Amino acid sequence: MDISSQLREIVGEERMSDRPEEQFIYSRDSGAQPPRHVDYVVMPRTVEEVRQVVLLANREKIPVTPLGGGFTLSALVVPNRGGIVLDMKRMDRIIEVNEINRYALIEPGVSQAALQSYLKKHHPRLQHSTPEAPPTVTVVGNALIQGHGHISPRYGINSDMVNGLEVVLPTGEICTIGSGSIGPSWFTRGPLPDLPGLFIGWFGTTGIVTKLSMKLFPKPPFREVLAFYTDDVDLISEGIFEATQVDLLEDFFLISQEKPDWMNHVFFIIIISGHFEEEVAFKKKAFKRLFKEFKGGGKFVFVEDLHPALNKRFLDVPPLAALAADFRKGGGFEYTGAILPIDKVPAAWKKGIEISHKYGMICSYVHQVLLGHSVMFGFNYSFNRADETDIENTRKALEESNQTTLDLGGMIWKGELGAQQMMLKKMNPQTVQLIRNVKGFLDPNGIMNPGNWELA
Ligand SMILES: Cc1cc2nc3c(=O)[nH]c(=O)nc-3n(C[C@H](O)[C@H](O)[C@H](O)COP(=O)(O)OP(=O)(O)OC[C@H]3O[C@@H](n4cnc5c(N)ncnc54)[C@H](O)[C@@H]3O)c2cc1C
Repeated sequence: MDISSQLREIVGEERMSDRPEEQFIYSRDSGAQPPRHVDYVVMPRTVEEVRQVVLLANREKIPVTPLGGGFTLSALVVPNRGGIVLDMKRMDRIIEVNEINRYALIEPGVSQAALQSYLKKHHPRLQHSTPEAPPTVTVVGNALIQGHGHISPRYGINSDMVNGLEVVLPTGEICTIGSGSIGPSWFTRGPLPDLPGLFIGWFGTTGIVTKLSMKLFPKPPFREVLAFYTDDVDLISEGIFEATQVDLLEDFFLISQEKPDWMNHVFFIIIISGHFEEEVAFKKKAFKRLFKEFKGGGKFVFVEDLHPALNKRFLDVPPLAALAADFRKGGGFEYTGAILPIDKVPAAWKKGIEISHKYGMICSYVHQVLLGHSVMFGFNYSFNRADETDIENTRKALEESNQTTLDLGGMIWKGELGAQQMMLKKMNPQTVQLIRNVKGFLDPNGIMNPGNWELA
């Protein structure tokens, strides 16, 4: 029997395709990377179906690329060597929300919007950390790429919120990891050898996650936006240090945009929240005082009359912070996420403006401050999808931004293939070998999303 027929036998006619229409759609993502070939698209519904597909792929040595929402923009879900795209969207059950132990056990196709609306309806006092990505992206895809959400500045990045996983290994075994491997409750990841790390940050090269337990957090009923701005880029690091030092914020991001003119400042957007109105009032007073009193604080202006439309979009969960408007009139948006130490933000800021101008773009920035220890520094670029030169310029701008990130001692987040190569070439060779060994152990036939995290 040919591969298509065997796949159809596993998942059924409706959830397998080798037609050119589906091959076309899955051969690209919405970023600026060039398209690549896909042979089969499969949408499993059960863990057993995933296992059967993997067993077949492993036997026949066919590449498998797991896909959640497919929105990293770095073509991480576009196969490098053809084969099967395993689209997980049909596995979309919210299996359990445990209110008292504050976790949700979900399948990999659960979208951010689905979990958010489920919690709003059934557990309104709890929330999960929601990225500012399109609502269709998956909670699992985001956690697996070490993404971050609207409460990450307070509680940490989203992969740190993972309590445990169920994973189908490339050789077909089904492993549970965390407290779920020992008992019925998925409330903690330790104290055990920290196995989630074998699947987080690997871009689907070590296994297929079929369940994930995610921590939930209190959802305070009162929230308010505070906006401060300065024109002194060199004050950014100190401003971040001071604002996070007092430990009173829920979300914290920096934004700037060259157009319109009134946006052309360094804005510090701080979301404060509380269970009581007085708590929020106190936090507001504290921040206003702080921004007056710290050395350099005098150069920050508090925005008394933030436009109601902006106020609303920043208060939304997730906040609509990305102001990267469609400057090029063609719907394309790209950003490379640099995870930077806080003291390098001013240098990256200046360099980002230089790169944007070099490629004829208007500079726009959103940076999320992660727990006061690092910044997700977004070099944002908008481009015209219909213009090949514009797309090529965007790729060059991304490459230069990635190089800048490494030169500044930062890390490239969710990097496309070229960015991964840059990281691997700079990495301690014995660490590269360790990555190769771990991958070889878990995936002896090299079927899982090949090309990623491999030195060319
Ligand atoms: C406008 C915009 C704003 C964004 N803002 C944010 C933001 O604020 N914070 C943030 O973190 N991100 C942001 N992103 C980036 C990205 O969209 C999100 O991180 C998103 O949550 C990724 O999830 P996904 O479902 O699209 O993952 P995918 O792209 O589908 O997958 C990501 C990686 O995980 C692997 N994978 C997926 N599912 C599985 C599985 N079940 N098992 C094993 N491997 C798997 C894939 O192979 C791939 O390598 C933004 C993107 C856009 C376009």
